[in-house]
Amino acid sequence: MFIPLLEQGLTYIKGVGPTKSELLKKELAINTVRDLLMDYPIRYEDRTEFTLIKDVTANSEVVQLRGVLTNLALVGQTRKKRLVGTFKDESGTIELVWFRSIKWITENLPVNHSYRIYGRVNLFGRRKSIAHPEIDRLSKVSDSDQTASFVPVYRSTESLGASGLDSRGRRKVMQNLFKMIAPSDLSEHLPQYILDKLKLVSYFEAIRDIHFPKDNRALLQAERRLKFEEFFLLQITLVRHYFKNKQVNEGYVFEVIGNSFNYFYEKQMPFTLTGAQKRVLKEIRQDLKSGSQMNRLLQGDVGSGKTIVALMSMLIAIDNGFQACLMAPTEILAQQHFDSLSELIHPKMNLRIGFLSGSIKGKSRQELLKLTRFGEVHILIGTHALIEEGVRFKRLGLAIIDEQHRFGVAQRAKLWEKGKEFHPHILIMTATPIPRTLHMTLYGDLDVSIIDELPPGRKPIKTLHKTEYHRPEVIKFVKKEIQKGRQIYVVFPLIEESEKLDLEDLNRGYERLLTDFPPPAFQISVVHGRMKQDEKDFEMNRFKDGVTQLMVATTVIEVGVNVPNASVMIIENSERFGLSQLHQLRGRVGRGADQSYCILMSSFKLTHEAKERLQTMVQTNDGFEIAEVDLRLRGPGSLQGTQQSGLPTFKLANIIRDNDVLKTSREIAKRIIDKDPDLQAEYHLSLRRYLEKYHNERQDWSNIS
Ligand code: ADP
Ligand code: MG
Repeated sequence: MFIPLLEQGLTYIKGVGPTKSELLKKELAINTVRDLLMDYPIRYEDRTEFTLIKDVTANSEVVQLRGVLTNLALVGQTRKKRLVGTFKDESGTIELVWFRSIKWITENLPVNHSYRIYGRVNLFGRRKSIAHPEIDRLSKVSDSDQTASFVPVYRSTESLGASGLDSRGRRKVMQNLFKMIAPSDLSEHLPQYILDKLKLVSYFEAIRDIHFPKDNRALLQAERRLKFEEFFLLQITLVRHYFKNKQVNEGYVFEVIGNSFNYFYEKQMPFTLTGAQKRVLKEIRQDLKSGSQMNRLLQGDVGSGKTIVALMSMLIAIDNGFQACLMAPTEILAQQHFDSLSELIHPKMNLRIGFLSGSIKGKSRQELLKLTRFGEVHILIGTHALIEEGVRFKRLGLAIIDEQHRFGVAQRAKLWEKGKEFHPHILIMTATPIPRTLHMTLYGDLDVSIIDELPPGRKPIKTLHKTEYHRPEVIKFVKKEIQKGRQIYVVFPLIEESEKLDLEDLNRGYERLLTDFPPPAFQISVVHGRMKQDEKDFEMNRFKDGVTQLMVATTVIEVGVNVPNASVMIIENSERFGLSQLHQLRGRVGRGADQSYCILMSSFKLTHEAKERLQTMVQTNDGFEIAEVDLRLRGPGSLQGTQQSGLPTFKLANIIRDNDVLKTSREIAKRIIDKDPDLQAEYHLSLRRYLEKYHNERQDWSNIS
């Protein structure tokens, strides 16, 4: 049977036997020739410069020399034998030393020949020496290593190194491999017209030059082509998926804007919508009447007013004869939604709102489920209890999920199945700002709406950074705020691995607060992750009702809690929090009319990165700006809300640095799929084959939320 070169095992390559092949498999998961070619160098060494031996003066310096090996001799006792060479150029002499491979060197490096030497210098007084240098004969001109100005450096491991597959050994393997490869083995899969248009080099050239670039220009060309390809292949997959979803997933058509919506809009609206809210509502409305099932992500910073958008979307569903549901990640958040929606919806609107959670049991639960089944509940609000088997709707038309990153893929799928004829329309709301730069990669096949404007009249939260030294001043300030009738959060970090430690921190912090804010004048609530849900709720509610003035908590209060009277957020050990988490926490205050404050307490000594995080917080309130900084500091994988989404990783391309390439790739992918959705055209054939072969193992990005 004919096996294409790329699919051959590694032993196919000269110089690679079963041992090396196994080792590469085990250590680096490199199984085939293709894997090997796809394992690009981690960097390159510039070998255009030669140093004169007389200029070698710094210990440990890595140098490249050109000269003649004039002598080679074995010295020392039997057990400490070493091979010492004398190497000369026109300016001086240096010693070369080998402790191993003595036999091979003696047989393969004839004296009085010219060599190129590369290695790290040892200075012993005036004596110069290099141990185990890289050494190449200069007469063998054919050796690509020697003419190349950029020498590739490959990753390796200790056991690979011990078996002759250090970077240098791997380079040898690659040289052997390239002697066997013809351009036809790496045939082109991108359409020629794209290459022409973007002036990209061919696949063969790109792969060859990423390993053995003859100069910097060749390297850049290869990188440009491969980066484009990485983005493009992902984008074409995403865009294709997106179009398929639109075709396949027909959805209910919500044509009318009816009584509920109009009554609410004319009589009940407590304020005028911001421009951003209006725009987003329009986008949703378009989706709901399009005939395709909506899958939309609604992003809006904390306090940007997502709730009212959710409500008005639900009213549209109701006016068209459907039910709607709203799912929140915790009982307290669900309850909060229930309370605020119940307040917003006037009795005259004749709507029934249900609340379902694990704590609704027995008869009242049965009754609620029955009403839901008969379609007499218009809006059902609750926790993940909503997706349980027993919950059936008569006609679920719209499902809204709040704070999306707390829910997994499977849970969302269950919600989908609650529809009858079609899947319900889905709106996912999140306060985790995902930088715009990431949308295309992350949500390439979800529609995204953004509320990027806060309601008017909000006083921006003032953020201050303080150290232990300032604590007395902070305490005085807090007391003054409490006297004005305000409430205070004090948050301690929670890191899962050291839950015990954190609890100690929290307890110590609590003790200290008791001294600084002694009862009965001051009352303190405590909430932490070890408490049972109803204990937490009890404490939360005491704070909400104003019974307590201070709330000491670990990060459990992060999401969604709404106590407008709380105006100060103190974050202890703030250097231990990530940026997006700090921003989420800060969002707990600034919800009322009063000036709010966020005080970041930290130790005096900070890492450079921690300093930048805290400074960013002090400087801006804009969640998107913060997300961009976070992305820059920590890389895409660490963004909150993206971990479970399996953010794609790229070998060469970088979402931030190569953002314009990403945009180009996205535009081209869109144009292609628009014209040729199934890639049936002759000139898309090789692209389609390539995608089928190498991209079908990719995750289904459409289900990431
Ligand atoms: P989030 O996006 O964090 O869920 P909410 O929907 O809870 O934000 O809104 C935060 C606060 O802002 C609420 O008290 C809400 O009533 C108020 N609000 C929302 N939209 C407006 C608006 N257009 N004008 C004035 N206040 C608004
Ligand atoms: Mg909210």
